[in-house]
Amino acid sequence: MKEKGKKLTRAEYLRLSGAGIIAAMAVLSLGMGCSGGTSGDSGGDTGKKGCADCPARKNYDKDPASLTGRLWKWHIRFCPGWKGYISSLPEDERRAVLEKYK
Ligand code: SF4
Repeated sequence: MKEKGKKLTRAEYLRLSGAGIIAAMAVLSLGMGCSGGTSGDSGGDTGKKGCADCPARKNYDKDPASLTGRLWKWHIRFCPGWKGYISSLPEDERRAVLEKYK
């Protein structure tokens, strides 16, 4: 167990940051493979379906505290696919989704 306030060694820091980089790459590759973020018609049906059924989003819903869940939550701050999906929703549904992921 790690003592509180103990500084990380260089090896520990590199190991932890490596895990973060791998997780970020996993989310980014999911985003690149998703139909929501790269389809080019982020407001179209493809983007709607992609973000509504997004596995990363489901992962966040299942466990918001997980690393991949937190990365997904972070990515919606700037992802054009997600923004297109949100803007394509009817007003009441948009409010509900925005409230849920606020
Ligand atoms: S939320 Fe949408 S844009 Fe983001 S990864 Fe999932 S499908 Fe792609």
